[in-house]
Amino acid sequence: MNRDRIPTLERIGEELLDEISPDWRDNPHMLDTPRRYAKWWHEFTTYDGGNDATVFPVEHVDQMVAVTGIDTWSLCAHHLLPFSASVSIGYVADTQVLGLSKFARIAHAAAHQPTSQEALCAAIADRVQEVTGSESVAVTANGLHLCMAMRGIRTPATMTTSVTRGVFREDPAARTEWLNILARRNA
Ligand code: ZN
Repeated sequence: MNRDRIPTLERIGEELLDEISPDWRDNPHMLDTPRRYAKWWHEFTTYDGGNDATVFPVEHVDQMVAVTGIDTWSLCAHHLLPFSASVSIGYVADTQVLGLSKFARIAHAAAHQPTSQEALCAAIADRVQEVTGSESVAVTANGLHLCMAMRGIRTPATMTTSVTRGVFREDPAARTEWLNILARRNA
C-alpha cells in the first residue's frame, strides 16, 4: 500500500462519520478525524518491522529455543475490531538460531492486517519455519478480542490458539517441555 491511498481512506472516514455521526462537522474535535483515521489505517496496514531474518550458526544442534510474552495487536477479520495477542514462539534450532529481536518483528508483521487468531499463529509459524529452516515450531497466542468484549456476548475472555509442528507435535517430551515453558510464563 502506498501513500496514494490516504485520500481514499480519508474519504471513507468522512463517509463513515456522515453515516454514524451526521453532525460530526459541528464538533471541533472531529474536524480532523477523517485525516487521523486515514493515517491510522495507512500506518497499521503498512507496518514494516525491518529485517526479520538474521540467523546465527550454532554448533550444538537440537536445542529448544523459546521466546514468550510478545505482546502484539491485530484486527479481527470478522469485525475489524482490535484484538491483543500475547504470543509465545518456540522452535528447535538445528543449525542456526534466529536473533532474539526477530521474533517480535515476525509476530508484529503477521499481526498488522485483518486476520484471525488461528491464522495469525499459523502465519508466525510459517515465517519462523522459513527463516530458521526448522521443521519443529510451536506458536501459542492468548488473545483478548474487542469484538467479544464490546459487542455480542460482551464478555472479555481470553482465547488461546496454538500451532505445533515437528517434535512439538510428535514427541511427548518436547510437547511437555513446551507446555512447561508456557506454564512458567503464565505462573
Ligand atoms: Zn471479531
